[in-house]
Amino acid sequence: MDLNINYHTEMTPDIALQILRDGHERFLSGRSKHRGLLQKVQETKDNPRPFASILSCMDSRVPTELILDQSIGDIFNIRIAGNVISPHVLGSLEYTIATAGSKLIVVMGHTNCGAVRSACDDVMRENLSGLLREVKVCISQEFTEISNRTGHNESFVNKVSLLNVYRSVQQILEQSSIIRQRVDSREIKIIPAMYDISVGNLTFYNKHC
Ligand SMILES: [Zn+2]
Repeated sequence: MDLNINYHTEMTPDIALQILRDGHERFLSGRSKHRGLLQKVQETKDNPRPFASILSCMDSRVPTELILDQSIGDIFNIRIAGNVISPHVLGSLEYTIATAGSKLIVVMGHTNCGAVRSACDDVMRENLSGLLREVKVCISQEFTEISNRTGHNESFVNKVSLLNVYRSVQQILEQSSIIRQRVDSREIKIIPAMYDISVGNLTFYNKHC
């Protein structure tokens, strides 16, 4: 948390996004804050004020708080393979927005995603198959890669990953009237984003909604 503001009255989607951008800049430039985490435990135990909700992949190379340089109590963090939408994920997001007052949802995909790669290779495995089915919808939406449409083609995988991020954003808007209404009234924003695991760079696509 970086700005000295009253969170109940002054936090906006744009301020929330700027806090995340500033945190990521610190991460990229090697200036991440060395916080007293145990002190943050004490400070937040009764009154956490998370200002943003991040839906991202569970990949071990994408630790949300670290790459956004945020601390205990700052952000909601929903991580699931391929950042796919399900009723439980939507319910979690609705809680962060409607109950806890979060002002921003970031749907963050990443390059070289194992879940997307598995979907591209048509992996079938017990419970994993149902999850990958969500990602596979985006494969048919990718038209630019002709010769190698498998998980071995990193360019193809990354293009499907971006489509998958936009699909998750669309599903949130279509399947949660609670969130949709707050987006329409500009009370909150939903921002697609892609994280490049090879260089540590996060791109926000903040013209979306
Ligand atoms: Zn992933």
